[in-house]
Amino acid sequence: MHFAKSALSLALASTARAFSPLARGASHRVVLGGGAVGSSSRGGGITSISSPYSSTTALGANVLKLTQPAKDLLPEVDVFIFDCDGVIWRGDSVIEGIPETLEKLRALGKKMYFVTNNSTKSRAGYKKKFDSLGLNVPAEEIFSSSFAAAAYLEQTKFKESGKKVYVVGEVGIQEELDLIGVPHFGGPEDKGKVPDMGPGCMVKHDHDVGAVVVGFDRHINYYKIQYAQLCINENPGCEFIATNTDAVTHLTDAQEWAGNGSMVGAIKGCTGREPTVVGKPSPLMIDYLCSMLGLDKRRICMVGDRLDTDVLFGTDNGLRSLLVLSGVTSEEKLLSHENTITPDFYADSIVDFFIDESAKVEATA
Ligand SMILES: [Mg+2]
Repeated sequence: MHFAKSALSLALASTARAFSPLARGASHRVVLGGGAVGSSSRGGGITSISSPYSSTTALGANVLKLTQPAKDLLPEVDVFIFDCDGVIWRGDSVIEGIPETLEKLRALGKKMYFVTNNSTKSRAGYKKKFDSLGLNVPAEEIFSSSFAAAAYLEQTKFKESGKKVYVVGEVGIQEELDLIGVPHFGGPEDKGKVPDMGPGCMVKHDHDVGAVVVGFDRHINYYKIQYAQLCINENPGCEFIATNTDAVTHLTDAQEWAGNGSMVGAIKGCTGREPTVVGKPSPLMIDYLCSMLGLDKRRICMVGDRLDTDVLFGTDNGLRSLLVLSGVTSEEKLLSHENTITPDFYADSIVDFFIDESAKVEATA
């Protein structure tokens, strides 16, 4: 955990400016149910995009397939922000060609960050996963929504309030809260709890809970929902923080599963409150990165496999964006007239970032 503490210290040292727009009481955008709500929500079918790139191959309605990355992409980008699942790995398997591709990008001097909305692991947990897949990624390059929740609480000086956090979620959130010394309970410990709902029965809640953090929770139950409801509705000033609001997730590769949007929706439904969203597509993490590194947003490219989080995260925040087809979004869905979220480019996988190189090898073979 030592590395994580170091990373957190580094991160939090520069978090103040990045997180200041989301001081308590500010209003926040929420994306639920897979639909896009925000500045990039465009009705009426595909909207024309203004691509910064010069050479393209149009394969669909205004979305361009990457064919000449050495000309159109790599010279224009200093920093790549990669989503993980569906971009770097699928489930527990690294996608073919990714380790070599990351090495090539580093050799070109590109910076890269790995940003995931999955809150079930802490950054330490993700570092282990990168290691287990043979990917040499420094801990400082990893950003999870569990970390973002802790960083937000740190920025808003939650610890100084002397309050506690009630967690609807898994161990990743707990580990990140431990690192900043914020007391918490709930989470996995409340797995399987069933409130007594006989006549006159009630759930007693802790009046010192000052924030409820809601992340993906494979053991969500009515007790947790009731406990969160009591804290938010009855504890004055209690915050409602969502790690993310993804509509669906991919627990297995066989089908889509209800994502954290369903957990957040349950709490929203019984409190009438909008959460503070700290993961993608909220601007919190990109503001933090830009603040920490002094980055020019137009020199950053967001790469992901989801339209409603990854690409929206890019388009809403003034970044370049690229959708890969190695995850959950099909080419058909991307190019359909129902889709209103348009990346600058799309590619089969980030391995295609060096497709020109492959073409040269083939041509000379
Ligand atoms: Mg993904």
